[in-house]
Amino acid sequence: MNDCGFTTLLLHGKNSRSYPQGAILPPISQVTAFQYESMEDLERVFAHKSPGFAYTRIGNPTVSAFENRINELEGGFGAVATGSGMAAIVTAILAVCESGDEIIAGAGLYGGTIDLFHDLEKLGIHTVYADRLDADAVRSLATDKTRLVFGELISNPSLAVLDVPALAKAAHEQGVPLFVDSTTATPYLARPLSLGADAVIHSTSKYINGGGNSVGGIIVSGGSFSWDFDRHQALSGFRQYGKLAFLARLRADIFANLGTCQSPMNAYLTYIGADTLGLRMDRICSNADALARRLAEEPDITVNYLTLPGHPYHEYAERELGGLGGGILTLRAGSRERAFRIINSLKYARIASNLGDLRTLVIHPASTLYVRTSKAEAEKAGVFEDTIRISVGIEDPEDLIQDFLQAVAVSREERA
Ligand code: PLP
Repeated sequence: MNDCGFTTLLLHGKNSRSYPQGAILPPISQVTAFQYESMEDLERVFAHKSPGFAYTRIGNPTVSAFENRINELEGGFGAVATGSGMAAIVTAILAVCESGDEIIAGAGLYGGTIDLFHDLEKLGIHTVYADRLDADAVRSLATDKTRLVFGELISNPSLAVLDVPALAKAAHEQGVPLFVDSTTATPYLARPLSLGADAVIHSTSKYINGGGNSVGGIIVSGGSFSWDFDRHQALSGFRQYGKLAFLARLRADIFANLGTCQSPMNAYLTYIGADTLGLRMDRICSNADALARRLAEEPDITVNYLTLPGHPYHEYAERELGGLGGGILTLRAGSRERAFRIINSLKYARIASNLGDLRTLVIHPASTLYVRTSKAEAEKAGVFEDTIRISVGIEDPEDLIQDFLQAVAVSREERA
């Protein structure tokens, strides 16, 4: 089945074919606990000696169907779905890092992740930022405390693209894994595990769900990193699992203990939403490309989009993302006031703090997603006072283009 195309695999992959009573979709197991005929049977499930579900915080058939589906798309060894993208990031990090450990991360991160890394400082986990997360940065920033390299494949919203093969090689030379937040790329644009990453994380609230109806996240493990358990002390209790120690600790320990599970209903809604991921991404990417090219002709705004000629990451996008630029573009309007005027003059694009929706969404990140972040950190993440982030949707492209052009024109009149 793996030799077929993306959408064929999505719809007909082996994990989408084994639901009870021949159901085409996974039934919604909206339950808290699962009963057994005898105490011995339940004991065996708890001891992982027989398959089965015991309690939804630890595992659930609907959530498991969703996990298996995304795992198959990403080419992973196993996946754990979480209650949000943030829950996925914190759960993955706490599985491999403990107090005294260090993370090397790219500076261009989603604001919530930067805030989380501040919180982790209080638990003794320190993050060292690279302005440009590449192999040289990893080699120069690594210390004997480094446990993990973390970056966003396409950073939100600065649009820096990771060179995953080179970065994975550098991380592995230092004895640490590479975890990639691939939310903005989606499995349609890239499969980081096949490029050398060790785990992929998504906020499934975004493109994977697509309809803007459920918050969720997922961690997909490649299962091929050779852990040094003297170095990765956080995993030392799981050394008997070898290369699967990360997945074993996630599932049996940290995920269950933190209670970062996804609800069955959200897993079901996101499972259904994912059916059209390939179709949506084609349309979103072509809309974003058309909008970016047209707006780039305007003399008094600056457009940041991966497929524009001269974009610093254009070459990586060609190589790693099949020439597609994703759904996010940013504009710099010259001032915060003008950015607000453009946003407020849009007819179709909704002002909302989300991305990856079918509908085009806009936001002024400096006054929302990055309010808790310092100005210097925000600017390194590509967020300035005059930045507008656009998450392009699937509308008819000419309507979108006309809407943005009229808003830019209105902002000019008001300024004059
Ligand atoms: N990672 C990225 C790249 C994001 O853009 C976001 C949210 O915008 C998250 C993680 C957090 O996801 P969630 O809102 O599902 O917790």
